[in-house]
Amino acid sequence: MSAAGRLPGSVDVAIVGSGPNGAAYARILSEQAPGSRIAMFEVGPTVTEPPGAHVKNLVDPAAQAAAERRSQGPSADAATLSSPAAVVAGRRQARPGTFLLPDGFAFDGEDGLPAVAMSSNVGGMGAHWTCACPRPGGSERIPYLPGLDELLTDAERVLGVTATALEDAPFAELIRRRLSAAIDDGRSPATRVQPMPLAVHRRADGQLVWSGSDVVMGEVTRSNPHFTLYDEALVTRVVVEQGRAAAVEVRDLRSNEVSTVRASFVVVAADALRTPQLLWASGIRPAALGRYLNDQAQVVYAARISGADTTIEPPAAGAISQHSGVSWIPFTDELPYHGQVMQLDASPVPLADDDPVVPGSIVGLGLFCAKELRWDDRLEFADDRTDSYGMPAIRVHYKLTEHDHRTLDQARDEIVRMAKAIGEPLGDVPITLPLGASLHYQGTTRMGESDDGTSVCGPDSEVWSVSGLFVAGNNVIPTSTAANPTLTSVALAIRGARRIARELRAEGAQP
Ligand code: FAD
Repeated sequence: MSAAGRLPGSVDVAIVGSGPNGAAYARILSEQAPGSRIAMFEVGPTVTEPPGAHVKNLVDPAAQAAAERRSQGPSADAATLSSPAAVVAGRRQARPGTFLLPDGFAFDGEDGLPAVAMSSNVGGMGAHWTCACPRPGGSERIPYLPGLDELLTDAERVLGVTATALEDAPFAELIRRRLSAAIDDGRSPATRVQPMPLAVHRRADGQLVWSGSDVVMGEVTRSNPHFTLYDEALVTRVVVEQGRAAAVEVRDLRSNEVSTVRASFVVVAADALRTPQLLWASGIRPAALGRYLNDQAQVVYAARISGADTTIEPPAAGAISQHSGVSWIPFTDELPYHGQVMQLDASPVPLADDDPVVPGSIVGLGLFCAKELRWDDRLEFADDRTDSYGMPAIRVHYKLTEHDHRTLDQARDEIVRMAKAIGEPLGDVPITLPLGASLHYQGTTRMGESDDGTSVCGPDSEVWSVSGLFVAGNNVIPTSTAANPTLTSVALAIRGARRIARELRAEGAQP
């Protein structure tokens, strides 16, 4: 142990962040380099059992709400909005379990990302996510990465992805049939309306279990005697010696003591805002750090399924809607948005008091739009101001281009067409969410094929300028995507983790 209490003095691999991407490193290393000593540091508290489990698996609504508040870092008491469709344009409120940047999210003459958010808890945003895990298609895919499909298959394995968990949802077939009739014409079979692959499985007793970092880590990590998770531990710096990652500095938030933990490899999986923040704080400042920031502008709408007179029980407390399942309209290069269609817990527009709403009959539609990538869309970090954790304050410079506005116009037209196909649209026009509401931020430590100044890391996610330092998360994705990004970022993490495992084995430390 280090001089400062519970933290170790040295490990083979230090992982910063316990979301799905940090968890993927822990899982693959536990499988492929089982003798290596792994420490995972997470600034937030443990809010579920097993650590990193999805809060939706907590059946007691009060316990779920408490876990969400404890994930909200400095904003535990802030009001939140439970449904994206409940957002009123211009109102800045975070989703449960997340917190917003207090300032620096927009500047004059720019759009900014007013709803950009984070989670600080064991499991990260992966304890609060919707679990949609579509594969990237067309230009969303990384063209120079060999074996991408095999990596995506392994990511589906560790995330526990299935497309069948909600197959008995009574309205799902009907919705897909109606959407198909309206939009499938001209689409290739792979890009037609289909069930959304979800990181969710059904227990033997029928209860749905939503995947969090607990599922990603799996029993192999939990039972690994050489793996330890340290919650409430803020990594403040990556120490570099002779061009190689050598240690992390960690503040134990329980005791406020600071330790140096030496490590042969350091993995920073601290989300798309705080991964580049930690590199900056460590003096690791390649030109592309924080650049090519991109978010998926989101349009939402709702419809009431017409002609559905089935009487069904409302979903159990804490359970997401099962009635209409979750349907997927894949991205294509011609239609650069991606659709997620699922039941809403409540109508986003007020309905008459005597409206006999059939449970499960209000369907939410969301289209996520791919952004035109720009060097100038970026995060900046202040040397003279700090955030609530004492790390360099984050500023967001972000602007939609004419191309982005055209895509949004197209998405608004398309979502109305989809809502009409399902039934009766609710509300006069679709809602364009405040930028950042997608919770899918990418590009800020992007991967490149070569070190040409436009990327931070190579195809194995190792930072070009610091050997032994790996970055992980949606921030590594270099392409413009509309699909939910976690499956892709976990696939990239798996590749990085395999590389570290190979090196550890080659060093002879492993059996
Ligand atoms: P995170 O899960 O954000 O974890 C990063 C962790 O790092 C955090 O716990 C943070 O506290 C910790 N950390 C940060 N800085 C430090 C530091 N200096 N020291 C120690 N620890 C630190 N994605 C999808 O693909 N599909 C979906 O359907 C989907 N739905 C979503 C719905 C909601 C409501 C939310 C909130 C998110 C959703 N997402 C979805 C996004 C998804 O959750 C993220 O893509 C995913 O969690 C990213 O994983 P990560 O490990 O990279 O980062």
